Amino acid sequence: MPSRRVLFQCLAAAAVTGAGVPSLDAALPVDPSRRKLTALSTANPSITPVFLDHNENAYGPSEKVRAALAEAPSLANRYPRNEYDALRNKLAALYLVKEDHVLLACGSSEILRVAASALLASGKRLVQALPTYPTLGKFARDLGADVVEVPLTKLYEHDLDSMLKRVDARTSLVYICNPNNPTATLTTRKDLDTFVRQLPDHVHVLIDEAYSDFVSPHAGYASFLESPVNDPRVVVCRTFSKVYGLAGMRVGYAVGSPDTLKRMGASQLRYGVSTIAAKAALTAVEDSEYVKIAIKRNADDRQEFMNQVNIRMLRAIDSHANFALLNPLRPTDAVLDHLKQNNIFVAPLIPAMDKYIRVSFGVPEEIREFWRVMDQLPPTGKMAM
Ligand code: PLP
Repeated sequence: MPSRRVLFQCLAAAAVTGAGVPSLDAALPVDPSRRKLTALSTANPSITPVFLDHNENAYGPSEKVRAALAEAPSLANRYPRNEYDALRNKLAALYLVKEDHVLLACGSSEILRVAASALLASGKRLVQALPTYPTLGKFARDLGADVVEVPLTKLYEHDLDSMLKRVDARTSLVYICNPNNPTATLTTRKDLDTFVRQLPDHVHVLIDEAYSDFVSPHAGYASFLESPVNDPRVVVCRTFSKVYGLAGMRVGYAVGSPDTLKRMGASQLRYGVSTIAAKAALTAVEDSEYVKIAIKRNADDRQEFMNQVNIRMLRAIDSHANFALLNPLRPTDAVLDHLKQNNIFVAPLIPAMDKYIRVSFGVPEEIREFWRVMDQLPPTGKMAM
C-alpha cells in the first residue's frame, strides 16, 4: 500500500491535468440550504458538499408534497389531531388491513428501536446478517441482548440456512433487510417463505423494506406488504425517507399483528410523528404518479452509475436500491479521504466489506462530480492493494 504522502502527490499531479474541468459551484444548481452547510463542513470550505452518504432521494419530494409542507406555519401551534389517524388509515387501506395493523413512527429508525424494546432484552438473542443495516443491532446491544451476525452468502443474499442454525431458545427476533443495506442485494421471497415457516413459534421476524420501491420487476423478489403472509410473527417496516424524499420529516411505519404493534407502541412518545410530517407523508402516499417517476428516475440513475463503473473497468455489486457498493480497486481509506477532501460524502468504511465504498445515487450533476473527483485518483494499477 503506498504511503498517504505518495498518494496525495499523485492526486496533486492528477488534479493539474483536470484543470479544465468546471468547478462544482458552476456544475451544481444553487441550493441555499447546501451553501449554509458548506460553512459546517470539515473539508474544503470553498466547495459545495455533495451528499452521497445517506441513501436519500436527492431530488426531494413531489410538488404536491411541497405544497402540503407550505402549510406548516398554520399547523404549527396545535398538537397533532387527525393527521396521525388519516395517515394510518390511508396505509391500512393501501395494504388491505385494519388500522390496528399499522404503527406510525418517527422514521423507521423508531420502529427498529421499539421493536428492540418490545421483543428483545438482556438474555434474548437477535439474529441478523453481516453486513446489514446496523441500527437494530445497536439497540439490541444497548438492551444487553446477544447479537449474532451471520455473513451473507457469496451472492450477498441472507444466508438463511446458517441464520436458522443460530436461532436458539433465547432467540426472540430475526432481522431481514431486503434489499439489504449496504449491499443493495436481494434475498428471494421463496427462500424467505421457507425460512419463516421453519422458525420456531417464539421467534419474530422484522422485515425491513426501506428500499423495496426501488427493486425492478424481479422474479425472485416480492415485498411482504404487497404479498403478505398470514403470520403474526412477521413485522414489516417501511420509511418515507427514501422514494418519497421525506428523510427530514422523519416518518416510518410498521405493519404487523395488533398485539405485537401494541407492545412496540408502548415505548413510543405521544405525538412523536408531527402534524406536518404526517400531512406530508399522507400527500406523498396519495401522489402515486410521483412515486412512479421517482422509481423510473432511480432506475435510470442506477444504470448510468453502472455504465460509468464499467467504462472505468471498476467493479460494483449489482444494485436493487438507490445506492451501490463500488469497488474502486484502490485502497478504500485513501479513496474515502480523497472524496472527503473534495467535499464528497459517501458512507463511512464498512468493516465487513472493506474493499468497497457505498455511494448513494445523487442527481446527475452530483454523480458527475463524484466521477470527476474519482478520476483524479491515480490509475488502479499504480496503487498497491
Ligand atoms: N432501514 C434501513 C435499511 C435504512 O437504510 C434506513 C436509513 O437509511 C433506515 C431503516 C432508517 O430510515 P428512517 O429512520 O429515515 O426511516
